[in-house]
Amino acid sequence: MNEDTKKLILELIEANDPIVISRHIRPDGDAVGSTMGFTKVLRDTYPQKKIYLADDDFSDYLAFCGGEDEVPEEVYPNALLIVIDTGTRKRISNRNYAKAKKIVKIDHHIEADPYGDVNWVEDFRSSACEMIADFLVTFKDRLKISPQAAAYVYMGMVTDSGRFRFEGVTGDTMRLAGAMLDYGVDYETLFAHLYTEEPEAFRLKSYVYDHIGITKNGVAYLYMDEATQDRFHLSFEAASGVVNELSKIRGSLIWVAFIANREKKNIRVRLRSRFLGINDLAIKYHGGGHNMAAGATVFSEQEMQELIDDADRLLGEYKSTHEGWL
Ligand code: AMP
Repeated sequence: MNEDTKKLILELIEANDPIVISRHIRPDGDAVGSTMGFTKVLRDTYPQKKIYLADDDFSDYLAFCGGEDEVPEEVYPNALLIVIDTGTRKRISNRNYAKAKKIVKIDHHIEADPYGDVNWVEDFRSSACEMIADFLVTFKDRLKISPQAAAYVYMGMVTDSGRFRFEGVTGDTMRLAGAMLDYGVDYETLFAHLYTEEPEAFRLKSYVYDHIGITKNGVAYLYMDEATQDRFHLSFEAASGVVNELSKIRGSLIWVAFIANREKKNIRVRLRSRFLGINDLAIKYHGGGHNMAAGATVFSEQEMQELIDDADRLLGEYKSTHEGWL
C-alpha cells in the first residue's frame, strides 16, 4: 500500500509547480537533512520548476547545511506543500502551511494527526531520512541524486538513529544508508561538522557532569535554569542539547533534561530511555513523541519534581519486574 502512496507522491511532484518543502520547528539533523536532501534532488531533477525550502525557524548547530528561502505568500494557493518529519500540524515550521493547494505528509512519528491530503507515515522507520532514502532508491531512475543530496539524507539517518544505535534501526536502514554512501557522501567533512565542538563546550560538559541528579531508582535528570544558560552563554537550543550528556549512565534507563524557556515562561522537558517506554509519561505532561524519545512541558519546579517522581516510580517498577537491563 505504501508503494502506491510513494508512486502517488512522485506523480504529485511531477504534476505540480511550484513545490514548497517544510519540516518541524526546532529542527534536528533529520528534519534538516530530509528537507535539504529532498529539495536538492527535486531542484536537480526538475530545474524548470520553482522549488522552495520554507521554514520559520533555524538551527545554529546545523547552519553549515545552508539556509532557507523567502517564499512569497501568494505562492501557496498554487503550491504542493511537502512536509517532512513532522507529526502534527502544530509542529510544522511554516505559518502559511494551511494556504497550500495540497499537502503531502512524509513522516516516521506515530500517527496522531494525518494533516496531509496524502499521508505517507511509517513509524517503524528510524528516521524520516530513511524514508527519503527509500523514496530516492525506489525512483532512482527518474531522479537526479547528487553526492550533496545523499549527504544530507545520510546526515539525518546518522543523527536520528544515534549513529545507528537506537530502536528502529534495521537491515533496511543499513542498506539504505549504504545506498546513500554509494552516491559519494563526504563523511569525513560531515562528521567533522557534526561531532567536533568548540573548547567552551567542554566547560559546559564539566558543569553538567557535576550537577546531574540521580533518583533512588536511577532516573538521571538535570535542570538548565536561566542563570545557568546565561553563565555559559547558551541559546535555548544549545541548552536543550544537554539531554545527550545524560545518556550513558549505567542503570539510568530514563534520563530527563529540563530547560527553562525564558520566552514562553515554562520548562521544556526532553525525555529519553532505553529498554522501557516513556511516551505515556510525556503525554501526561502535555507532550508526546516516540516510545524512547519524547518531549513535554512543565509549568513550575513543583511540576518538574512530580514528573521526576513519576519517572522514578516507572523505572522502579520496571527494574523490579525485568532482568538484563543495563
Ligand atoms: P525532543 O526532545 O524535542 O527532541 O523530542 C523527542 C521526540 O518527541 C521528537 O520526535 C519530537 O517530535 C517529539 N515531541 C517533542 N515534544 C513534543 C510534544 N510536545 N508533543 C508531541 N511530540 C513531541
